[in-house]
Amino acid sequence: MIGALARATFSLLAGSSLLKKAASRYGLRRTGGIARRFVAGETVAEAIAAVRQLEARGLLATIDLLGESVTSSEQAVAAAREYVALIETAAAAGIASRSLSVKLTQIGLAVDRATAIDNLRRIVDAGVEPGFFVRVDMEGSAWTENTLDTVETLWSIGYRNVGVAIQAALRRSPADVERLNALGMSIRLVKGAYREPRGVAHRRREDVERAFAELMETLLVGGHRPAIATHDPRLIERTRQLADARGIARDAFEFELLYGIRRDLQHSLVRDGYQVRVYLPYGTEWYPYFMRRLGERPANVAFVLKSLVSEESVP
Ligand SMILES: Cc1cc2nc3c(=O)[nH]c(=O)nc-3n(C[C@H](O)[C@H](O)[C@H](O)COP(=O)(O)OP(=O)(O)OC[C@H]3O[C@@H](n4cnc5c(N)ncnc54)[C@H](O)[C@@H]3O)c2cc1C
Repeated sequence: MIGALARATFSLLAGSSLLKKAASRYGLRRTGGIARRFVAGETVAEAIAAVRQLEARGLLATIDLLGESVTSSEQAVAAAREYVALIETAAAAGIASRSLSVKLTQIGLAVDRATAIDNLRRIVDAGVEPGFFVRVDMEGSAWTENTLDTVETLWSIGYRNVGVAIQAALRRSPADVERLNALGMSIRLVKGAYREPRGVAHRRREDVERAFAELMETLLVGGHRPAIATHDPRLIERTRQLADARGIARDAFEFELLYGIRRDLQHSLVRDGYQVRVYLPYGTEWYPYFMRRLGERPANVAFVLKSLVSEESVP
């Protein structure tokens, strides 16, 4: 109940341009920046430096250039160009992590589907030669159908370095997973970060967890290099047990966690021989992402307030 309330509140705050303006002034300051815990920095150079630090500890990254809900095709094309430039810079830097995460409303899905397809194609195409995989994030349920259509269109053209996130909370997800598995596409399984209507999504925590566990099993057994993306220790343990019981190799799938969250868990999974990828966001448009992270765990608000008062960096 409190969780649902927090999610609803922070989803409202995420839309406030006044708060966004105020927060943007302080958010990524080196000292006391309230968003520093979750966001690697504002520039590509900061993102690549953070990737190197993760790689030095045996982790991999998927880099996300923050941004979403773009309403003009000029902004959408500009974002796609930034992604292409990111691929070039990251390849030249020689980092091992060859994975990007992209939101389709950042590259034109809210303008029209054709714009999103063109822009995603630019990014995916630029990734082929240097070996970058492009994971399309899943946004609110208003975008699910068009997101899947767009990704499947690229797949049907012949691109194989593209995959998508599927939200366990959505009632439609078992059917989507079955279809994408049959295609051979890699799926990232997440619980779902958006507040959704009851008819569309499970609302109760235990229902979401049950749906996640079922889809995790489907993906481990019949998926294609799936990413199990959660910080939930019970679901991680269930994944490990299932993989062991079925003799599934530890490098046949990966765990994915968010930058700055449960770093202890990230490292212990690496020590146990699992592939672990960290979702690493950077850029100036960090505010909605940051609000979703606060909504997931109200205790984060205390960290943020403390950092504002004490001017110390958030742990
Ligand atoms: C790699 C990755 C990619 C994702 N991509 C998408 C996507 O494309 N679309 C989408 O809708 N959602 C995405 N999400 C978010 C996801 O849907 C959940 O909202 C988020 O992961 C929190 O759920 P949980 O599975 O970690 O479990 P929870 O039960 O929420 O958390 C389990 C434990 O993890 C820790 N934890 C979780 N969240 C936080 C936090 N914000 N701050 C501090 N500690 C925390 C706490 O210790 C908590 O007890 C992604 C998540 C990950 C890890």
